[in-house]
Amino acid sequence: MRLAPLRAALLSWYDDHARTLPWRQAPAAGGQVHADAYAVWVSEVMLQQTRVETVLRYYEPFLARFPDAQALAAASEDAVMAAWSGLGYYRRARYLHKGVREVVARYGGDVPKDVDARRSLPGVGRYTSGAIGSIAFGLQEPIVDGNVMRVFARLFAIDTPLGKPVTDTRMWALAEALVEGERPGDLNQALMELGATVCVKAAPCCEQCPVHMHCEARQEGRERELPIPRAKRPPKRLACVAVLARLGERFCLQRGAGSLFGGLWNLPMAEGEGVAAARVALDAAGVAADLGAKPAATPAASLAATVEHVLTHRRLTVQVYRVDLGPAPADKMRHALREDVRFVLPAELPELGVSALTKKAIAAVEQDAL
Ligand code: SF4
Repeated sequence: MRLAPLRAALLSWYDDHARTLPWRQAPAAGGQVHADAYAVWVSEVMLQQTRVETVLRYYEPFLARFPDAQALAAASEDAVMAAWSGLGYYRRARYLHKGVREVVARYGGDVPKDVDARRSLPGVGRYTSGAIGSIAFGLQEPIVDGNVMRVFARLFAIDTPLGKPVTDTRMWALAEALVEGERPGDLNQALMELGATVCVKAAPCCEQCPVHMHCEARQEGRERELPIPRAKRPPKRLACVAVLARLGERFCLQRGAGSLFGGLWNLPMAEGEGVAAARVALDAAGVAADLGAKPAATPAASLAATVEHVLTHRRLTVQVYRVDLGPAPADKMRHALREDVRFVLPAELPELGVSALTKKAIAAVEQDAL
C-alpha cells in the first residue's frame, strides 16, 4: 500500500473531525505543534488504558494543581496520589511523579527534546516518548496504542493475534513508516482519533471512514473479524483480610508498598482469611504493639463485612475485620505514628490517595465514615 495518500487522507480528516479536547490544540494549521511537553506528558499518561470521558474529569484539575514540572516535582506523593485518586493504575502516577522530578533535577524542568534523554526517564516508554516527541516537538516519532493497533490490523489485514511479538514488531514498523512526513503529531493523533471514533471495536463505521478505499479488511469483508484479540488470562482469585482498626474517631491506614496498591493508603491488609490473617495485618502495621498492648491483650477482631473487588488481573474477596483499639490518648497516638502508618479522621480521606478497595471496605462497615 502506498502510504502518502493514506497520510493525506488521515490528516485532512483530522483537520475536520478532531474532537475538541483540553489537551489538544485546535487542529494544526501550517504544522504548528503543541508546545507544552509537560501537559502532553500528563495527558498521555492519564489516557493510557483509560477512557477519554474519565480523563476529562481529571486532566484540568490536575494541571490546575500542578501547572508545570516544577509544581509536580515539589508536590508530596500524597498530594499527587490524592489528585490521581479514582483514575486507577496508580503506578502511572508514581512514575510520572518520579519522571518529572528527574526532569527538574537534570534538565531544569524542561522535558528533553532528545529522544534518548526522554526514553531514559522513569516511566517513559516508547509510546509516551513518541507522543511527547511528535505532539510537543513535532518530531517524526511513531506511537502505537490500542486504537492504532485496531486501525492497523484492519487497514493492513494483520491476522496475527494482538500482544504477540511478531504483531507488535509489524505495528511499530508501520507506524514508523507512516509518521515520516509533515505534521507527525497530528498524524499520530489522527490514527488514534480514527480508532476511537470511527474504526471502533464492535462496529466500525466504514462508510464514514476517510481511508476505507485503502482498507484491506474492508475490501475482504473482514473488518469485524480483525484484530485477532490476545488470549485472555482469567483473573486470579485472591482471599484477603483488611482491618478497620479504630482509635477513638480515627482509624488506621497503612501505605501500600507492594505491586497491588503501592503508594496508596489502605486499611492494614494481609492475604488469607479469618482472625489469624487479621492479626497478621494488624501486626504488620505495628498498631497494637505501638499502642503498648501485650500480645495476650491484643484487641479482639470481629468480622464486619465481606467485599469483592476486581483489579486488572485479580479478583479479590476481602473480609473486613473491625478492631476497637479504645479511646485515642495523645501520648499513645504519638507512638502509633510510623512513616507508613497513620491514624486519620474520615474527613481527611479526600486529601489522601486512598485505594478504591479501602474506600469500599470502609463504606461497607460504616456507611457514614466517608
Ligand atoms: Fe476501520 Fe472500516 Fe476504516 Fe477499515 S474502512 S479502517 S475497518 S473504519
